[in-house]
Amino acid sequence: MTSAALIALLCAVAAPALAQTKPAPPPGEFGNIRPPAPTSPFAKQAKSLLASKSFKVAKDALAAGYDQTVADIVTLTEIPAPPFGEAEKGKAYLAMLAKEGLTDLETDAAGNVMGLRKGTGGGGLLVVAAHLDTVFPAGTDVKVRRDGDKLYAPGVGDDTVGLASILAILRAINAAGIQTRSDILFVGDVGEEGPGDLRGMKELFLKGRYKDRIDAFISLEPSGPTVIVNGGVGSKRYKTTFKGPGGHSMGDFGTVNPAFALADAAKQFGELKVPSDPRTVYNIGLLEGGTSVNSIPFSVAMTVDMRSSGAAELKAVEDAYLAILPKAVEAENAARSTKRGPIVLDNRMVGDRPVGETPISAPFVQRIAAVGDALGKPMGYVAGSTDANIPMSLGKPAVTLGAGFVTFRAHSLEEGMEVNKARDVESIATTMAQILMAATPN
Ligand SMILES: [Zn+2]
Repeated sequence: MTSAALIALLCAVAAPALAQTKPAPPPGEFGNIRPPAPTSPFAKQAKSLLASKSFKVAKDALAAGYDQTVADIVTLTEIPAPPFGEAEKGKAYLAMLAKEGLTDLETDAAGNVMGLRKGTGGGGLLVVAAHLDTVFPAGTDVKVRRDGDKLYAPGVGDDTVGLASILAILRAINAAGIQTRSDILFVGDVGEEGPGDLRGMKELFLKGRYKDRIDAFISLEPSGPTVIVNGGVGSKRYKTTFKGPGGHSMGDFGTVNPAFALADAAKQFGELKVPSDPRTVYNIGLLEGGTSVNSIPFSVAMTVDMRSSGAAELKAVEDAYLAILPKAVEAENAARSTKRGPIVLDNRMVGDRPVGETPISAPFVQRIAAVGDALGKPMGYVAGSTDANIPMSLGKPAVTLGAGFVTFRAHSLEEGMEVNKARDVESIATTMAQILMAATPN
């Protein structure tokens, strides 16, 4: 869910480089879009990387391996990976990483799969990740259907193209014998989508054996190569349940009713004022409860989402929501009879994605941006909600980049992607150059 808006935006922002006719995205759709920064101080270095013989060999290998990359996308898409059900896909992906010569292969406690590509030293540890999970529940038909130059299947884009790009880039840099200074840990991670609540990243950065060693992070998501996600929109989600004694709508009339308490809280929540910059939003997305039209309910619930790219703003809207709830309960308990029992609150956090940002001026970002400058296609910057939120929130340099395919209708059963060798090889090569720039710091 979180990725849907991001992808819509990434695609919309990235599209102009690919198809000039696409309209610009609505401003502020997701975070606030910032224009390209001044030319990167590393542009010259990026230019010489792009012009190097070994990079050209790697790019030729991307082209030669393109059919394999498309085949990888089909193979991976057809292994279901619903939230909390990524194990089978993880196993298959780990085997694919192993074939590309990575060492230290492992599946961690959360189910992330990973392998290491050793660097020449002195460059620290860079993580390059794509997520295994999709939003689709178990039982969804994930068979890929090809129609001309388009592939259709739930999950074929998000984030299968990221997983396949990682394999393509690994093969290409191996074929060209390219060395990086940094060790690179390639990861297929779990729990990126809504219900997963970034649990793969929380394991990797807060508990796993690499937690203190990771210096920088890149994740790949479906989009073109002209956008850097350097801001992490945070979110807080609660399932708020109001419970009461219930009763007969006529016989027990006058008894406290949790639906009125919920309605009161919902109304007050809807009246909260939030800033537009940093863009801060809230929503009631789910309403549940009651048993019949002529019963006073025992229980009603709402599930709410609050988001902001500002930590203080997110906390402010969360605090305001949490303050509303007991007041609404108190008001209902005062308005009607509590003889059979009062209204009580059961409020549970069901989602917590921290806010974060890697400054545009950070050398890590500028090394990546340098590739766009060297190609004459300066990068735009945007805030999103991705795996990068976790390292960003910990102050580690982190961005999300385009995996290098054109995809559409993410998170829908009509999800699809286009197969266009010349264009896709250019895009994946750009991502490859960005990773190489990040993995060879001065
Ligand atoms: Zn995604």
